[in-house]
Order: sequence, then C-alpha cells, then structure tokens
Amino acid sequence: MAAITMKNIVKKYGDGFPAVNDVSLDVRDGEFMILVGPSGCGKSTLLRMIVGLEDITSGDMLIGEKVVNKVAPRERNLSMVFQNYALYPHLTVFENIAFPLRLAKKPGDEVRRRVTETAELLELTEHLERKPANLSGGQRQRVAMGRAIVRQADAFLFDEPLSNLDAKLRGQMRTEISRLQKRLGVTTVYVTHDQTEAMTLGDRVAVLRMGVLQQVGSPRELYEEP
Ligand code: ADP
Ligand code: ADP
Repeated sequence: MAAITMKNIVKKYGDGFPAVNDVSLDVRDGEFMILVGPSGCGKSTLLRMIVGLEDITSGDMLIGEKVVNKVAPRERNLSMVFQNYALYPHLTVFENIAFPLRLAKKPGDEVRRRVTETAELLELTEHLERKPANLSGGQRQRVAMGRAIVRQADAFLFDEPLSNLDAKLRGQMRTEISRLQKRLGVTTVYVTHDQTEAMTLGDRVAVLRMGVLQQVGSPRELYEEP
C-alpha cells in the first residue's frame, strides 16, 4: 500500500487548453478516493498519468515517497481495472485470475494459494474451471476484479468499471467493491461520472471540472445539505 501524491499536475495534448490543469491531490495510504466530474473533465487523463500510460506535461506524481514521473507503468506496482474488462476467452477463470502472477513467474503453490483466496473473496470458487463465455456479466466483472487484486499492488485504480453493467448489477457491484476495499484496505482511486457511486463508495470525493480540481471532501461534506 502507498499514498498517491499529485503536485501541480498539468497535462496538455498539443497546443490546446490543458486537459488537466494544475491539480494537487493527496490520496492517503489506504484511502478510497473517488474522482468525479462530467465527461471530458480530465478524469481518465489523470488516472492514466497515475498509472503511467500518459506522460505528465508538468508537475510531480508520487507513489509513496517515490517520484514516478519517468517510471514505466509496469514498475509502478499498481493495478488497474478498465471499463471494458477483457478476459482471455480461451483461459479458465482460474487462469484468468492467475495471469498477472504467471507473468511475474510466481511459483505454482503461491499462484494456487493467491488465486484460491481471491476467488473466495469474490465468491468465484465454484466457477474456477469455467470459461468466461459461460459466466454471467457480474461474474465476469468479478473475475476482472480478481485479476486486478490478486497481485499485491500498492494501489488499485478503477476507470468507470461499472458503466457497462445494467442497474441491478451495478448496485451489487458497488456493494462488492466497497466491501472488498474495506477488507483489503488498499489505496484506491476510482473514476466515475455516476453520482450514486460518488456518494456511496468513497472515503473522499474529488470533483474535477474542465481539468481543474474544484472540491475535495467526504461524500457527506459534498452532497448533504448543510
Ligand atoms: P474524462 O475522463 O473526464 O471524460 P478525459 O481525460 O478523457 O476526460 O479527457 C479530458 C480532455 O482531454 C478532453 O477534452 C479530451 O477531448 C482530451 N483528450 C483526452 N485524450 C486525448 C488525446 N489522446 N489526445 C487529445 N486530446 C485528448
Ligand atoms: P507451475 O508450472 O508454475 O507450477 P501450474 O500450471 O502447475 O504452474 O499451476 C500452479 C498451481 O496452480 C499448481 O499447484 C496447480 O495445481 C494449481 N492450479 C492450476 N490450475 C488450477 C485450477 N484450474 N484449479 C485449481 N488449481 C489449479
């Protein structure tokens, strides 16, 4: 686990108006931070800079004590869950979840232990031998989450992970994500444009508008009438 510190982060694409404009934000160790705002406000860009998929125009990004501006994504030890969760169709649930551990060449007994624990956490134990095509949408989403959390990453990053699900499933997954994050206590940054997710999921909410950080506070501070 590690805190994520953003100091005066600017991102310009070409000569245009900055997509992210002087954002300073501390995500504390173990905190669940929601990034919310309308489409085009710079949420994904900010998340991609945390992960290292996008260069920073100016400012500093820290993971723990370390400035990571020039650190390659795979050396940042972060886990990201994307909106369009892509599972490997020819692999079982077990091997889908195990994939990051296989890449890291973890020994077989560790792979089995971690995948088993993760599957229990996500209630996928009975489905480990199945292929993604034989799972429901919610189960597939849980497998994608399993793949993200099976590795002991310093932080989890979510980019609108629920936006392609129907309302019922979205409700279930909200509960699931909230439960998991509390249980694991891992630093989390979660991007959404959904007010319900913003109000119910996080410890704090950061509101972005046209690349500028407008407010940071607990859901209560931001959404309840005084
Ligand atoms: P959000 O995630 O809040 O919808 P984005 O971070 O995707 O917002 O986009 C912020 C702004 O940056 C938008 O104006 C968008 O058009 C622009 N933008 C995003 N990615 C690129 C890119 N690769 N090239 C040029 N402009 C981009
Ligand atoms: P390695 O060759 O690196 O040891 P294996 O393919 O043998 O990797 O698998 C690693 C561990 O995970 C083994 O102990 C294996 O029994 C276990 N394992 C692999 N696939 C499954 C599965 N579908 N269900 C339960 N355990 C599995």
